[in-house]
Amino acid sequence: MMTYFVTARQDEIYYVTGVPATEWNLNDRWLPSSKEEMREIYKGWHPTVQALVEGTVEVTKWSLLERDPLPLWSRGRMALLGDACHPMKPHMAQGAAMAIEDAAMLVRCFKEVGAEHHAQAFALYEANRAARASKVQRISHENTWLRTNEDPAWCFGYDVFSVPLVDAGAKTPVAA
Ligand SMILES: Cc1cc2nc3c(=O)[nH]c(=O)nc-3n(C[C@H](O)[C@H](O)[C@H](O)COP(=O)(O)OP(=O)(O)OC[C@H]3O[C@@H](n4cnc5c(N)ncnc54)[C@H](O)[C@@H]3O)c2cc1C
Repeated sequence: MMTYFVTARQDEIYYVTGVPATEWNLNDRWLPSSKEEMREIYKGWHPTVQALVEGTVEVTKWSLLERDPLPLWSRGRMALLGDACHPMKPHMAQGAAMAIEDAAMLVRCFKEVGAEHHAQAFALYEANRAARASKVQRISHENTWLRTNEDPAWCFGYDVFSVPLVDAGAKTPVAA
């Protein structure tokens, strides 16, 4: 369960959690749930979880949709970024971060090749983003982030504007 204070006074909490579902109708963006359903799911869990459930005012549920990494990030005058390009489960809390990094890298690539050369910019952008975004997508899928005492610097220490650029067309292998 991820919990966030949503007021400066810290008197209101938003929390989100994941529960395996056997089926989901993709026409439903979201569905109402209830405190009773939460009580049933979290019966016997830690008292803090029970307190969160008891303090819940409104519960909704929605599906978490993801994809495998895409083989193509752009065509013609259109390029994808963010969730449109690499939707992922939220287990690394990096989906929006990746979208922002994509956008910043796209800007850097346009600066590199010139705004009139969109095809080169898109190729450079994909070459410099696909491996990293796919790696984050895969770890998020597996939900293994920070389960061990690993150094998270490769993720949090990445700087779009100082990382050395690889050539367009260079297919950086997705790190294991
Ligand atoms: C439970 C949960 C927790 C998360 N926590 C984190 C976190 O802590 N940190 C983090 O970095 N990421 C987190 N994420 C992921 C993050 O929310 C997404 O990766 C991020 O919002 C993707 O941004 P985006 O701009 O690519 O897409 P979106 O945020 O989906 O934006 C796309 C926008 O396009 C609009 N749109 C769609 N179709 C059309 C159309 N035809 N015309 C016009 N507009 C349209 C949509 O309404 C939407 O506003 C979390 C996700 C979930 C589900």
